[in-house]
Amino acid sequence: MQSSARGPSSLLLDTTIGDQLSITAARDPDREALVSCHQRVRLTWGELDERVTHWACGLLGLGLVPGDRVGVWSPNCWEWAVLQLACARAGLVLVNVNPAYRSHELSYVIRKSRMRALFLWESDHRANYRNILSQTGAEPEWTVYFEEGREYWRAAGELPGPLDCHDAVNIQYTSGTTGSPKGVLLTHHNILNNGLLVGRQMRITAQDRICVPVPLYHCFGCVMGVLACVAHGSTLVLPNWTFDARATLDAIHQERATAVYGVPAMFIAELEHPEFARFDVASLRTGIMAGAPCPVEVMRRVVDQMHCREMTIAYGQTESSPVITMSGAGDDLEVRVSTVGAALAETEVKIADRDNGSTVERGVQGELCTRGYLVMRGYDGEAEATAKAIDADGWLHTGDLAVMREDGNCKITGRAKDMIIRGGENVYPREIEEFLYTNPKIADVHVVGVPDLRLGECISAWVRLRADAEMTEEELREFCRGRIAHFKVPKYIRFVDGFPMTVTGKIQKFKMREEEIQRLGLEEAARVATA
Ligand code: AMP
Repeated sequence: MQSSARGPSSLLLDTTIGDQLSITAARDPDREALVSCHQRVRLTWGELDERVTHWACGLLGLGLVPGDRVGVWSPNCWEWAVLQLACARAGLVLVNVNPAYRSHELSYVIRKSRMRALFLWESDHRANYRNILSQTGAEPEWTVYFEEGREYWRAAGELPGPLDCHDAVNIQYTSGTTGSPKGVLLTHHNILNNGLLVGRQMRITAQDRICVPVPLYHCFGCVMGVLACVAHGSTLVLPNWTFDARATLDAIHQERATAVYGVPAMFIAELEHPEFARFDVASLRTGIMAGAPCPVEVMRRVVDQMHCREMTIAYGQTESSPVITMSGAGDDLEVRVSTVGAALAETEVKIADRDNGSTVERGVQGELCTRGYLVMRGYDGEAEATAKAIDADGWLHTGDLAVMREDGNCKITGRAKDMIIRGGENVYPREIEEFLYTNPKIADVHVVGVPDLRLGECISAWVRLRADAEMTEEELREFCRGRIAHFKVPKYIRFVDGFPMTVTGKIQKFKMREEEIQRLGLEEAARVATA
């Protein structure tokens, strides 16, 4: 049998995000929609709907017009979700900016997205965002600072007439193999339906309360979190500004969460937290692990020790809204812990031979490709990169290697692209290499991912200095600090005189990786079995 499959047929929503929010709010106005634990804020669906309209009118009152881009550079907070929904209702395109971005990356994204407004907090214990923004010299027309109790809007515009659900509503940046982040353009139809289908796999209803410790700037938070709740009327529980294992356990306990999300590293941190046993997490039923290869053993522990008997794994990428395959709450335990599930409804999946593009037999490895409602509109303003990612027949090529089993469930077996996933944050070696080249002492640098028990992968940089230049590891880390996000700063730095190369002069990254595993004693982490 060939490795191609199509999920079940299903009716998709043809509504815009703003309209779906109104429908959900009208159905259950008094049920809780959003709980932000760290801000001590609770909003019912009725209140959320009202606040979203108020913000949408306020945004238009600034002078923004439908189609304009609005950036958000903030850790998780209720304001993030309200802004997301308000932009959708106003016909504006939200631009998600990773809160860990620093001046080098922020400046690029502001210019590239042509955002007219940016929303952010002035500072927190991690950074002074106002200062970083001023260092970019790229401030947009409107900079709006979030502030507790603030009255944001001086003037109110009028909501636009009916919007088209096939219009773009969101741009999410993901680093490209070319070194700089590319903006993935997503429509209401793309992401609202993905949220709907993801919720269905978990058998989510309005009674459910989903604990979301993953960042809202990423599709795991703003689509699988916020929009799954909008589609199903469930409650979104935000435990903290950024991930914190204790705050997550506490939020599950206090808020009686029935579902919990996370990348593998988050679940590992929760299970290993010294106070784990103090929290009552028995309210949990289901959840999603995704974003990076999911260790089978960690899944088993989440099912047993966190009471997530209907735990699932999702696999996908930003370009596909994001989820392509996902196990279902009712699947056998073996399927749920050791595969990434099968194609979601209305989703085509095939595994293609990397040399000739033909569909391979079941059980044979190839590149996972997908087609359907979920495929992005394209990379913003990058026709060539878009044409590389989506072929003439509409198939999105993920760059992930996978095997489709006889039963249609898939396993992710590797990556055809040069990408590292550290904890759940994607890092493109090329991006770090290009950044490090800007240091005048560096003659040549190559970056690889090495296995790590807690984070899945970590970054190792091999650096060749210019003749007579001297540098310490600390100096190199200092050079990175404040300029690039913390998760891109190499954990291991090695000064070398040369690199393993093929006869044609191509760097053999797999050899660098193997050498690092030996040198650093990472064999155990390299052997972890994943779904
Ligand atoms: P992003 O665009 O940030 O969502 O990253 C998507 C990439 O993360 C995919 O192309 C995969 O390489 C990886 N990924 C996401 N989910 C999984 C999973 N369940 N198992 C293995 N890799 C995953």
